[in-house]
Amino acid sequence: MVVGAGIAGLCAARMLHDAGKEVLVVARELGEASRVPDALLNPVRGKRGAVAPEAEEALGALWDFYPRFVPVHRGVLRPVPEADREAWKARLEGRRIPHRWLPEGLYLENAGWLQTAPLLQRLAEGLDILWAEVVRLEGASVYLASGGRVSARRLVFAGGASGAHLVGLGGRFTPGSVLQTQEHFQQARSYGVYVAGRSLGGSYLPHQNTCSPHQTQPHEAEWLLSGAERLLGYRPAYTSSWAGVRYRLDGCYLREIPGGYALTGFGSAAYFYAPLYAGRLLRLVG
Ligand SMILES: Cc1cc2nc3c(=O)[nH]c(=O)nc-3n(C[C@H](O)[C@H](O)[C@H](O)COP(=O)(O)OP(=O)(O)OC[C@H]3O[C@@H](n4cnc5c(N)ncnc54)[C@H](O)[C@@H]3O)c2cc1C
Repeated sequence: MVVGAGIAGLCAARMLHDAGKEVLVVARELGEASRVPDALLNPVRGKRGAVAPEAEEALGALWDFYPRFVPVHRGVLRPVPEADREAWKARLEGRRIPHRWLPEGLYLENAGWLQTAPLLQRLAEGLDILWAEVVRLEGASVYLASGGRVSARRLVFAGGASGAHLVGLGGRFTPGSVLQTQEHFQQARSYGVYVAGRSLGGSYLPHQNTCSPHQTQPHEAEWLLSGAERLLGYRPAYTSSWAGVRYRLDGCYLREIPGGYALTGFGSAAYFYAPLYAGRLLRLVG
């Protein structure tokens, strides 16, 4: 039984199902934080150019998996200032991250972006899903708000930020927003903020110790637009905003819990790491 139908739960459920396992997904709705409209798949992160841990493995796993379901748009341009390029080059040295230096900056050939809604829908197709609110876990059983109980041989918790209280693993919660732009950015660009598809996103709000629902604040829109002005040279027009909460468990996205495993806490890199860690889960459950 997989609790959660976001990108973590659906990658796990899909892989288990396709390997011939009998899987039941229990979830309140199709994705929550995973409904961020477009997801960047970026191995070189932040303004310091930190190469994500296990980036090579994560890129291999995501390119093996996502294109079976939806198009993945290849390439992310990081317009790194000239003064910082030597430091970025040093960080990339010895890593197997395909890239080229262009006059505009670093072009990451195997990075990319995808539209999330069609992916979540395609991953869910044909899976056995019980749409229900879980109020408590006990070993490999879940208690439902409707009063029932569902038991399985093994549980995979993938309840994300809003379900984190069910397992009590600690971690950090970071609210954030994405502006939906009129313009379509086929070429993803990221430095400070990012544009990809019809999304303008970024992260600057402080972490919290608990998950509370988030709504886009006027100062967030202003922060994103001024970041876009530095990235693109202009402020793109936007039509609406999307708000969500990231959940981060540092460097430990797959762990044993009573009754099974927790696959969660990917922070801003859920779409980047989920296929790699769901594959590892599959081997554990084997
Ligand atoms: C502003 C912003 C921008 C982001 N940008 C990116 C990006 O560019 N690239 C990227 O990879 N990631 C990005 N992320 C992060 C990413 O969207 C999330 O971290 C990720 O999608 C979380 O996936 P998940 O499957 O762990 O959880 P979720 O998508 O939150 O799914 C949780 C699932 O568990 C279910 N659930 C929870 N509680 C219960 C319960 N009590 N009973 C029943 N079901 C329950 C929910 O209904 C849902 O199905 C961004 C996040 C934010 C906020």
